[in-house]
Amino acid sequence: MKKKNIVILGCTGSIGDSTLKVVRHLSDQFNVVGIAGGSRFEKVADIANEFDCKYASIQHEENFTQFKSLLTTSTKASLGEEGMVEMCSDPSVDLVLCGIVGTAGLVPVLEAIRSGKDIGLASKEILVMAGEIVMAEVAKAGVKMIPVDSEHNAIFQCLDGQSDNSYRRILLTCSGGPFRNTPKEDFESITRKTALNHPTWDMGPKITIDSATLMNKSLELIEAVWLFDADVDQVEVVIHPQSIVHSMVEFTDGSILSQMSNPDMVFPIQYALTYPERYKSSIAPMDFTKGVSLTFEGPDHDRFPSINMAKDCLRRGGTSPAVFNAANEVAVEAFLEESIPFLKIWDVIRHTEEKHSFIKKPSLEEIIKADSEAREIAKDFLAKNS
Ligand code: MG
Repeated sequence: MKKKNIVILGCTGSIGDSTLKVVRHLSDQFNVVGIAGGSRFEKVADIANEFDCKYASIQHEENFTQFKSLLTTSTKASLGEEGMVEMCSDPSVDLVLCGIVGTAGLVPVLEAIRSGKDIGLASKEILVMAGEIVMAEVAKAGVKMIPVDSEHNAIFQCLDGQSDNSYRRILLTCSGGPFRNTPKEDFESITRKTALNHPTWDMGPKITIDSATLMNKSLELIEAVWLFDADVDQVEVVIHPQSIVHSMVEFTDGSILSQMSNPDMVFPIQYALTYPERYKSSIAPMDFTKGVSLTFEGPDHDRFPSINMAKDCLRRGGTSPAVFNAANEVAVEAFLEESIPFLKIWDVIRHTEEKHSFIKKPSLEEIIKADSEAREIAKDFLAKNS
């Protein structure tokens, strides 16, 4: 059987690590044609040498000479967006897995879609910002958009790859984060340290804070609407602290399908890479004989306003979701630098949403412009209010 040729954008982060774990485990199934990383250029070079990649790209020009010296002659070194676009459009590539946190993967992923590649998507920002444009390109190119985010991957599995809106509801599960049981009056004293302590998932700092505010779930809700062609009110968030049911789909007859596994990103990543096939996983199976409890409850919208804010953004449409995401990124960065308290994150987002120059039917350029405008508004607000 022919090996699948893949590109990994964001090869040094936690998604990259899990992807490489799958590739090492199923080494007879995949060729890693290209990889792209950010500032950890030594790690990018190590991976390129291990997998004998055709392309390897990093973010910063100042590291480029040193980076090149670490590579063998069979790997072409490149920089930033240009480098990513080149590997994503290489004719030999079958699938591009994008795990870059933030929006740096947007243009390369669009290029990959236009070149007919299937996409494994972990960067939720791409669909949050430009879901309408990206999914229109997916339909036009006839490629598969396979979500890697555990929840969307679960929904994709429940729908068996069919996104034809033949379901009643999507039930998007959510761990509830570290402050699920924290009383509202204690939110003022939440610190960087307590917020980074996620109960079930081991992830990067940005997404861990987003789990604590439920902004992660809110961005996922927006993502689900685009991926599965859902109406805003067809997606409901359900708190499920054990993170074993990764999401559920309720069909018109009332039947509910769910996808379950231990919380490990290897599962959704492997499924995205091997789809439509399934292969043996490197992870131990679930042991129900030891007793497994699954609980579900509704979210508390008073302590966690993010979900309703996201639904409002979706109803407004246009540049609103992109601004929601950009303002949150700025706010989370400020919280991680300990320059703003936890509760201020929502103030930054609300203020930025109100202030930005809304466009109802934006082009990709206008979305990218709205994203930078939002960052400026948010930073300005922080400068005046911290
Ligand atoms: Mg998720």
